[in-house]
Amino acid sequence: MTQSHILGFPRIGAQRELKKALEAYWKGDITQDELEQVGQTIKENNWQTQKNAGLDFITVGDFSWYDHVLDTSVLLGVVPKRFGGVRGKVDLNTYFCMARGQAPQTRETTACEMTKWFNTNYHYIVPEFTADQLFRLSSDKLFAEIDAARKLTPNIKPVILGPLTYLWLGKAKDDAFDKLDLLDKIIPVYNQIFDELKKRNIEWVQIDEPILVLDLPETWKNAYSKAYHQLDFGNLKCLLTTYFGALDDNLALVGELPVHGLHIDLCAAPEQLIPVLKAIANDKVISLGIINGRNIWRADLQKLLKLLPEAYQHSSNKFWIASSSSLLHVPVDLESETKLDQELKGWLAFAKQKIDEVVLLTQITIKGEQAFAQQLAENKALIQAKLQSPRIHNPLVQKRLAQVTVEHTRRQSDYEQRALFQRSALQLPLFPTTTIGSFPQTQEIRAARQLYKAGKIAEDDYLSKMREEIASVIQAQEELDIDVLVHGEAERNDMVEYFGELLDGFAFTSHAWVQSYGSRCVKPPIIYGDVSRQKAMTVNWSQYAQSLTDRRVKGMLTGPVTILAWSFVRDDQSYSDTALQIALALRDEVLDLEQAGITVIQIDEPAIREALPLRKKDWSQYLDWAVFAFRLASSGVSNSTQIHTHMCYSEFNDIIQAIAALDADVITIESSRSQMDLLKAFESFAYPNEIGPGVYDIHSPRIPDHQEIIDNLEKATQHIPLDRLWVNPDCGLKTRDWPEVKAALSNMVFAAKLLRNKYEEYEE
Ligand code: GLN
Ligand code: ZN
Repeated sequence: MTQSHILGFPRIGAQRELKKALEAYWKGDITQDELEQVGQTIKENNWQTQKNAGLDFITVGDFSWYDHVLDTSVLLGVVPKRFGGVRGKVDLNTYFCMARGQAPQTRETTACEMTKWFNTNYHYIVPEFTADQLFRLSSDKLFAEIDAARKLTPNIKPVILGPLTYLWLGKAKDDAFDKLDLLDKIIPVYNQIFDELKKRNIEWVQIDEPILVLDLPETWKNAYSKAYHQLDFGNLKCLLTTYFGALDDNLALVGELPVHGLHIDLCAAPEQLIPVLKAIANDKVISLGIINGRNIWRADLQKLLKLLPEAYQHSSNKFWIASSSSLLHVPVDLESETKLDQELKGWLAFAKQKIDEVVLLTQITIKGEQAFAQQLAENKALIQAKLQSPRIHNPLVQKRLAQVTVEHTRRQSDYEQRALFQRSALQLPLFPTTTIGSFPQTQEIRAARQLYKAGKIAEDDYLSKMREEIASVIQAQEELDIDVLVHGEAERNDMVEYFGELLDGFAFTSHAWVQSYGSRCVKPPIIYGDVSRQKAMTVNWSQYAQSLTDRRVKGMLTGPVTILAWSFVRDDQSYSDTALQIALALRDEVLDLEQAGITVIQIDEPAIREALPLRKKDWSQYLDWAVFAFRLASSGVSNSTQIHTHMCYSEFNDIIQAIAALDADVITIESSRSQMDLLKAFESFAYPNEIGPGVYDIHSPRIPDHQEIIDNLEKATQHIPLDRLWVNPDCGLKTRDWPEVKAALSNMVFAAKLLRNKYEEYEE
């Protein structure tokens, strides 16, 4: 019979209980017992929710104190030596030390690296492997959770990360060995884990192998067959899960694996259903991931039901209905949203509601559509109403979008020409200095913003508070003798939310938090309709800042791709169309800024890399529209207006051509954490425009001295012509405090001046 399950449930709690407890524990405000109590309550709630909803399996093992990849490291005994290695079971403080470099009772040391989980905004803790790496079962967490969940229901499906995905996500700490060589040593520990599951009479285990949707080297493909033949499932049945994309060229190898079921993501890759059904023996279970684990839209049931007959024919009674991925990437419960209007709320489904959708679809499959005529009719009416809602469709925006041509994405002249105009307009010295936009967000600024939002202080009071802040930021920069100033972004709590709140087509929630990493959560805006701008969004702030100084003040905007990447995006039109609508709104803003005398304008695109598709074959299509959208936003200005962009904390070397194609006059880009590794990209590719490689890491409280900055800049001069080199920090300064910022920037300006003297003499 058709069965229902999900791949995982959010672990932060509907009210972010886990976040609050973790942070209190780290501060020393609550005990480990108290923390564990909070975790236990969250787990039990999650299990109860799944049971009450009527899922056939309750997924166990998806809860994590910080991150499930870190949990796997601890399960397998992969604890770097600097955290004391492994003796017996790994305790919670060692675990938090690995994640954060510190825990209440342990000495401080460098945390493990953190990086993005596939193409999501979730970050995992990167496992570290050494050539002599040992693996040993070192945690009881999973088994304790199984035993606890058992008290609630017998139908438990534990989830663990598969051995190959685990190895793939880790990093070999010295270059001398291939981490894939560790496979033989890791398999016995997995078999030990399976023994524990067998002892507990577990029927199905979910083994996550999401790397099966990536372009894998041959060696890794071959390793799959070897590894899975060595895994000793015995009576245990293995549901191999893949998500976030299509199996494609890995399908044939998956078809050969000795597993008992396969989960596929039909939201990210609906086209793979038929090929998968053909490639998989029909005595295997196919789990159809049809309820989207990555977005917040209510499912179109009729549309999904059309998929099922195919699956039914293939494996008669052996298919399951599921979420496409873990529900980790969506907020917990729509019922927490008390301020959203009913119409919009009707369009949404969060994790809890998605479980209901999974169960309903399963029931319909078993009992027939007739039995659920009313629910189906309601769903149909809702989907219809949404499609036709005037809130979603703005004919003016659509008309304007239809009229966009490449002409709109070309500047008046090419960079060489523009640079001449800009040089005479801006009169900047060699090694011009600037910052990335934000200055410290002090407690005072935050408090003022919150009071204003809550209606507790008048608009005029708020405006004058912000103006005061802008004035002091301008004064500070003048005193530091920075060349191109910024207004400091005091009025923004978040670079996407700020614009979303001012644009039509966006909605904001009050509790729709999604885990980003550890205790950190984000609340992405929801783009539900055509995007348009009612009035200028930033001009007043920038104009005010400019009125206070003779130096140039940079206007500051968030780019279309970043706004898209950090929001929940409507699914009734292509991503690129939504990006272009945002770009058009930004284009108007850019022109308004120019009109108001702001002739240096930065459009941040820190997320351009993270929205990159998982498969290389899909890169160029994405990059084409991403670049088009940026250029649409930025190209309306005259030659003498200088467009900047900024990017950070991603690997940019392999998309450097696309970055150049943005045709920004200046790019400021993070590069100091990797000791200017970024510059390697310029050995084979001459970046055509101006560039400011970040000269110090703003994420560290350490103050860089001027010599270190000079060293970084000297490295840069070997790849970037002197007259195209800018001097700036890595990223915005909003998380730092003023004394740090002043000390660091003062050293930065000093370094620029020393170099200016040195090289100006050369030039003469
Ligand atoms: N302009 C933004 C700032 O300075 C850029 C932030 C970012 O790159 N994430 O804060
Ligand atoms: Zn940045």
